[in-house]
Amino acid sequence: MKCWHCNTELIWGGDHDIEEEDAEYCIETNLSCPQCNSFVMVYLPKDKMWDHYCPVEETEMSIGKDEECNWCGATEDSDWNARPECRFGDGNESSS
Ligand SMILES: [Zn+2]
Ligand SMILES: [Zn+2]
Repeated sequence: MKCWHCNTELIWGGDHDIEEEDAEYCIETNLSCPQCNSFVMVYLPKDKMWDHYCPVEETEMSIGKDEECNWCGATEDSDWNARPECRFGDGNESSS
């Protein structure tokens, strides 16, 4: 990674785990420029949550990336099955 100001390759100073202290970011990386002494901090965002409507709990909830629902076992990929609005009225057809 190059320095914003002088385009010199930055020197990596270290990674700091801030997962506990910060709600948005999990890793803080600091770099410095040997040329102009600029100091650069890089924040790595935490994994995004996915929204899940749980048919077991009958409520909307957020679940961590790559985690499954504790209640119904749905994963992000299979979740569309569980959404009530995606069911097209099965068993709702009455003979007229
Ligand atoms: Zn610089
Ligand atoms: Zn669920």
